[in-house]
Amino acid sequence: MTAALTELTLGQARDGLAKGEFSSRELTEAHIAAVEGARDLNAFITETPERALAMADASDARRGNGEAGAMDGIPIAVKDLYCTDGVRTTAASRILESFVPPYESSVTANLWRAGAVMLGKTNMDEFAMGSANMFSFKGPAINPWRRDGDGPPLVPGGSSGGSAAAVAARVALGAIGTDTGGSIRQPASFCGVVGMKPTYGRCSRWGIVAFASSLDQAGPLARSVRDCAIMLGAMAGHDPRDSTSVDRPVPDYEAALGGGVKGLRVGIPAEYRVDDMPEEIERLWAQGVEWMKGQGAEAVDISLPHTRYALPAYYIVAPAEASSNLARYDGVKYGLRVPSDDLTEMYQKTRAAGFGPEVKRRVLIGTYVLSAGYYDAYYLKAQKLRTLIAADFRAAFQRVDVILTPTAPSAAFAVGEKMDDPIAMYLNDVFTVPASMAGLPAISIPAGLSAEGLPLGLHLIGRPFDEETVLRAAQAVEEAAGFTARPEGVGR
Ligand code: GLN
Repeated sequence: MTAALTELTLGQARDGLAKGEFSSRELTEAHIAAVEGARDLNAFITETPERALAMADASDARRGNGEAGAMDGIPIAVKDLYCTDGVRTTAASRILESFVPPYESSVTANLWRAGAVMLGKTNMDEFAMGSANMFSFKGPAINPWRRDGDGPPLVPGGSSGGSAAAVAARVALGAIGTDTGGSIRQPASFCGVVGMKPTYGRCSRWGIVAFASSLDQAGPLARSVRDCAIMLGAMAGHDPRDSTSVDRPVPDYEAALGGGVKGLRVGIPAEYRVDDMPEEIERLWAQGVEWMKGQGAEAVDISLPHTRYALPAYYIVAPAEASSNLARYDGVKYGLRVPSDDLTEMYQKTRAAGFGPEVKRRVLIGTYVLSAGYYDAYYLKAQKLRTLIAADFRAAFQRVDVILTPTAPSAAFAVGEKMDDPIAMYLNDVFTVPASMAGLPAISIPAGLSAEGLPLGLHLIGRPFDEETVLRAAQAVEEAAGFTARPEGVGR
């Protein structure tokens, strides 16, 4: 029974709870046991089993009174970038190692209001900077998948690596992540799960530790498109405490599913055919186009001419905003303090001891590109490119309804690989960053396996606030792909 409970999709668990087939306590106990059984993945920074059981009992009581919400009794995992009231929130950084927020992020508050249950806080790259979950003070999170079911441990992708690993390993029915340049979609692709970044402004950023404020968005990771739709519905909404959150009604995303893609115009951007793209990814992409056509969609060749500038521009804009956002960690207000008699020295020692190598690199780059004399040459140029990238998408969406691309240029790589080459690491984001720069909704769906037996994702990008079409198209890909493979040793 307990093993079977971790096999359900989030939607199936919701329906089972509604029918009284099992209680939230039973469902939650099964997942707590699964979390404990999968500690070798290092997917969690903090486990919260007592809180989970208390939330589960409260959910069962609500259900008894006929007051169950949209996600009532569903155990999920939360990236350790979301502030959780009374539960340590580290951003995977030594500088916040013992930070216990006195408030709850808006997105998690929305989820708890819908009745969800928190299993714990997941591992990630420090301050969400990374593509492999290697930059965490807690050590790397591990992908439950192995090459041909064996071989060296692989990265789960980043920065929401712990969330993706937890969902793939079936220790949580869903998880939330954040995506600044690909941090939900790339780990979803590496771990064989669905991950969605909604439109910038769809979910509140309030209470999420800031990385690059003009790019950061919350989003769900789950084992089906429907599960992502359910979660997004509970997460989204206007929040007066985030001035960039948008005041428009939250549609019933689940109701948008099942409509099929007949007549949908699917854009295939020529510029995403990058050099050195592995043939198996090229092939999967072509397969995706055929799947859509087979269900009545129309494939349209499009051009997004500024695509090749997206990655370099992102790696100016994101570090610039990060260097400013991270100025608050100075040892004075909260977090780590390395004492000194001299104030400046205290700042220096605190930041030197508190930040890891990638965060330091970004703060240095960001400070440089914002400094007098270089601002115009780098930051301003990057902002102009960002405008051109967004204009490319606007023009394309005159002709098509969604855009189909691969999610990442490779399958998961081994722990430790690419660590001596930051640029190689940054190239992971080549297909995800453009949508981030333009603030567009996008989703990764597991669509096939690499020659080495690892999951590969396909990526759909949509018009602003048209998550419904993105989800509907994603479901078409999901159905055609019929991805049922799973990591060795997980379930069954
Ligand atoms: N990998 C990208 C980076 O390191 C994206 C991170 C993210 O989306 N948070 O910046």
